[in-house]
Amino acid sequence: MNFQESIFVAGHRGLAGGAILRELQRAGYGNVLTRTRGEVDLTDRVAVRRFFEAEKPRIVVLAAAKVGGIQANNDFPVEFLLENLKIQNNVIEAAADFGARKLLFLGSSCIYPKLAPQPIPESALLSGPLEPTNDAYAIAKIAGIKLCQSYAREYGRDFICAMPTNLYGPGDNFDLASSHVLPALLRKVHEAKSSGAKTVVVWGTGAPRREFLHVDDLAGACRFLIEHYDSPEMINVGCGEDVTIRELAELICEVVGFTGELIFDMSKPDGTPRKLLDTSRLTALGWRPRTALREGIAQTYAWYRERETRGT
Ligand code: GDP
Repeated sequence: MNFQESIFVAGHRGLAGGAILRELQRAGYGNVLTRTRGEVDLTDRVAVRRFFEAEKPRIVVLAAAKVGGIQANNDFPVEFLLENLKIQNNVIEAAADFGARKLLFLGSSCIYPKLAPQPIPESALLSGPLEPTNDAYAIAKIAGIKLCQSYAREYGRDFICAMPTNLYGPGDNFDLASSHVLPALLRKVHEAKSSGAKTVVVWGTGAPRREFLHVDDLAGACRFLIEHYDSPEMINVGCGEDVTIRELAELICEVVGFTGELIFDMSKPDGTPRKLLDTSRLTALGWRPRTALREGIAQTYAWYRERETRGT
C-alpha cells in the first residue's frame, strides 16, 4: 500500500465514515480527504464533479448515506430513496470519470429479502421480496451495488461493495425518532435509570433477531478490503452472531444498571424477523471482528455519558 495516495472518505461525520477516517489515520494513511456537507453537498452533481476534478482522489470510500431506524425508513421513503440515489450516483460516476483507481461502496444488510435464508449469503440478493419498512432504502443501495458492478464489468474498474450488518458505537445517532434500536434503547434505559422510572418501552414483540457489529470493527474490515479485495462480488461484513431484541434490551439494562421492567409496544413494527449475515467470504480471507457485544455496548455507553456531560 502507498500510504501517501489520496483517499476521499465521503460521509466522515457519520457513524461508519467517522470510524473509517479514524482507522485510516491510525494506520498511517497520510493523505485522507474529507469535506463537510457545507463544503461539498454530495446530492449536488455539479459540486461533486467540481471537487473530484480538483482533487482527483485515487481511492474513494463511499460511506455517505441517508440512514435511519425502522420508524424513519417507514415514514420517509421518498427521502431515503432519492437522497441515497443522488449521493451514490454522483460520487461513483465522478470517481470513475476523474481517475479513482479504487472505490469502496457501503451497502446494508437490508438489501436482502425479508425471508432470506439465515445466515444470509451474498447470493441471496434479489432472490425474494424486500422488507416493506425499508424497501426504499434497500432499493437505493441495490442500485449502488449494481452501478459498482457495472463499472467493473463494462469498464474494468476496481469498484467494490461491502454489506455491513447493523452497526453501533461512538458517534451513533441517539435521536429516538430516527435512530436504530441499540442507541435508542441505550438512551431510553439510561434516562429511565436517571429519572428513577420503573419501566422502559421496547418497540415490537422483542422477538426479531439482529446482529450488531461495532463500528470500529467495520472500519477495520473496510481498510482490510481496500488493501486486499478487488472482486466485483459484494462481501458481507458482520460478527457472525445475533441476539433477539429482548436479549439486547436485557443486556443494555445490565450494562446501564437498570433493574426495572421492559414493556413491549406491539403497535410498533417488528420489521424483518431475522438478519444475520453469512460472513464466510470475509472470514475466509482472514479477517475477524474484535469487539464482543457487551464490551462494545459498555464502551458506547461510556461515550454517550461523556457526551452528555460535555453537553454536546
Ligand atoms: P431494522 O434493523 O431495519 O429493523 O432497524 P431498527 O434498528 O430501527 O430496529 C430493529 C428492531 O428493534 C425492530 O424490530 C424494532 O421494532 C426494534 N426496536 C425496539 N425498540 C426500538 C426503539 O426504541 N427504536 C428502534 N429504532 N427500534 C426498536
